[in-house]
Amino acid sequence: MPNKATWIDTCSDTECFMQGLERRNPGELEFHQAVREFVETVMPFVLKHRKYKDAQILERMTEPDRIVIFRVTWEDDAGNIRANRAWRVQFNNSIGPYKGGMRFHPDATLSVLKFLGFEQTFKNSLTGLPMGGAKGGANFNPKGKSDREVMRFCHSLMIELHRHIGEDTDVPAGDIGVGAREISYLFGQYKRLENRFAGILTGKGLTFGGSLVRTEATGYGCVYFCENMLNHIDDSLKEKTCVVSGSGNVAIYTAEKATELGARVVAMSDSSGFIHDPAGIDAEKLAFIKNLKEVRRGRIAEYADKFEGVTFLPEERPWNVPCDVAFPCATQNEISLDDAKALIANGVKAVCEGANMPTELAGAHAFLGAGILYAPSKAANAGGVAVSGLEQSQNALRLSWSREEVDEKLKTIMRDIHDKCVEHGQTDGFVNYVLGANIAGFIKVADAMLAYGVV
Ligand code: GLU
Repeated sequence: MPNKATWIDTCSDTECFMQGLERRNPGELEFHQAVREFVETVMPFVLKHRKYKDAQILERMTEPDRIVIFRVTWEDDAGNIRANRAWRVQFNNSIGPYKGGMRFHPDATLSVLKFLGFEQTFKNSLTGLPMGGAKGGANFNPKGKSDREVMRFCHSLMIELHRHIGEDTDVPAGDIGVGAREISYLFGQYKRLENRFAGILTGKGLTFGGSLVRTEATGYGCVYFCENMLNHIDDSLKEKTCVVSGSGNVAIYTAEKATELGARVVAMSDSSGFIHDPAGIDAEKLAFIKNLKEVRRGRIAEYADKFEGVTFLPEERPWNVPCDVAFPCATQNEISLDDAKALIANGVKAVCEGANMPTELAGAHAFLGAGILYAPSKAANAGGVAVSGLEQSQNALRLSWSREEVDEKLKTIMRDIHDKCVEHGQTDGFVNYVLGANIAGFIKVADAMLAYGVV
């Protein structure tokens, strides 16, 4: 029997477990939320399988392996000295080297990065690739900064980060606020500091070790997952009306692939509001958004000035727009319970999460209660990190695969994740994708931890 006097509580129900976790991690609301969503589905499984319970596996899994916190000092264009805080949360490396993105956002906190690192552990497990879970970032706002300011920030951040990462240790990538530009600056600095050219970051440029389809992978993967869910009930995305929130990397390639598969995307958004285009955002209009967001870094409102019949709704989220499929692709907790109720009332059939944890827990319960096809982020958006894993493989082999090859592998991975969710989430003829993703993700990590003994 385990020693009951350990500092970690030993509980047999979610409430007791959460009380202990909240006491140990005060004020970390996003982390509490992600753990609660996980534990409430996995606890019954753990109690049924004594080997997990006896090894206190949930208690161990919800404690990160280590967290590095450091200051990043840099100089802005006006010559002022600036300081930010940065983190790398190395959550769990039981099934492979740590892997997960870096987020640059003024609201990045330890709680947010811990929830992301926790989710990443099970997402990476679901991909079937040998990747552990991590996340990092800084409370730095790239918005309104010049390229040279972003460069100085990235170079300074890498001066500390380089000693904690490596192709067999921890492989960061992008997330919100960290795209191709930032990864390039980070990679260039690592190479200079360590004098090695190695696959220590993913999402790299194509001329220096990046993979084809990595840019598109999260969005494409999310749509492949949705198509799999619909196919499972003999339906498809063809002629479906879709709402996509966000207009960053994930949203853009979600809209692109959904449109390619015959859906009509009628809304997209950014932090200033959303545009409603009943005619649909076709490939040409999407090219405008790509340029607006990726090159000019402008506001979505410009779309409404450019195209006929479009409404811009400032400071609002798009969840009141009637749709068959909702793809939340902006950020965490962007769908409240009321938003979920509005989507359900308007007849939504599927909700497929491109962003990480975009639905509040009560909203997720509402979707499941209404029998909607609800794909949680750790399953639906795993395509991004999956292709990161493929980038690591190509780097290790020192070769690059064709676009078709990578896309084919991505499709297979997303189908496999879907099938694992069905296998573990089947409840009375209904697939609970939250349950399926959590159990399937859990088993692989838990079994590795058990095999290692008491570590
Ligand atoms: N930030 C992405 C995610 O949330 C990708 C991480 C990666 O490619 O390592 O999964």
